[in-house]
Amino acid sequence: MPESKLHVVLLRSTPDPEEVIAQAAKLCYSPASIDDLKKQIESKNQANFIGKLTDMRHHSPLEHATFTFGVEGISRSCSHQIVRHRLASYSQQSQRYVGQQSGKTGGFHFVVPPGIDKIGKKTWFIEKMNIIQQWYDELTEALGNEGERAFEDARFLLPNAAETKIIITMNARELLHFIQVRCCNRAQWEVRELATEMLRQAKQVSPHIFKDAGPGCVNGACPEGKMTCGEMNEVRTRFKNLS
Ligand SMILES: Cc1cc2nc3c(=O)[nH]c(=O)nc-3n(C[C@H](O)[C@H](O)[C@H](O)COP(=O)(O)OP(=O)(O)OC[C@H]3O[C@@H](n4cnc5c(N)ncnc54)[C@H](O)[C@@H]3O)c2cc1C
Repeated sequence: MPESKLHVVLLRSTPDPEEVIAQAAKLCYSPASIDDLKKQIESKNQANFIGKLTDMRHHSPLEHATFTFGVEGISRSCSHQIVRHRLASYSQQSQRYVGQQSGKTGGFHFVVPPGIDKIGKKTWFIEKMNIIQQWYDELTEALGNEGERAFEDARFLLPNAAETKIIITMNARELLHFIQVRCCNRAQWEVRELATEMLRQAKQVSPHIFKDAGPGCVNGACPEGKMTCGEMNEVRTRFKNLS
């Protein structure tokens, strides 16, 4: 039963995302036709304009660019937090259709929290995962060993640590919001690592949209009030330098 590690791939993004965002934004303020607007926009660098748009909080044009990520090596506990973000689209590997028996598939994969390793309990934790695997195998067999009728009930034994795979599509506005709340030190370590990696990859294809992206404190005071981590300077430096 292998341990899983986070793996994120930016599968697709809108080609020239900054161009389409600039077209949508300029259309709001211009009498020009779509064809003229397109020509004007294509001939210019949109970096300053994108910056102004975010300063003005005119965020709706950002919805015209989308980013699709393939994610694996995360726990079900992490995916549960991700799917709370309602303005995104998801496709997640099913524990109902995909069996996790040790004999047929090598068993369920799982994530070991670094904190458990740190206190010297990793071997202990893996032993418990092995015990759960035995229970899962026994129950799957008792339920007929095949197909969703067996897997849909046997999965009730699987832990939050069980690995999952998910494809996520977010538009740039939602992605910026996701990054703001999930890259914060107050977010749980696993979703924070994922959100930071999504930001790193999005920034590579769209450096201007994501130039100042990061947790709330990157662009102002910490919004967490009494719950602040107090490490704003370190966090700001880390996200300004993320590449
Ligand atoms: C540190 C942290 C701790 C958390 N702890 C808990 C917890 O203990 N328990 C728990 O249940 N959840 C918890 N959450 C999840 C949190 O409550 C949200 O469900 C999650 O962050 C999704 O955020 P959102 O609703 O802003 O985002 P999205 O669903 O991505 O929506 C984006 C934005 O669109 C707008 N929007 C979307 N849908 C609506 C709507 N129906 N009506 C009005 N406006 C809408 C809002 O402005 C929203 O901010 C936690 C989140 C974080 C970051």
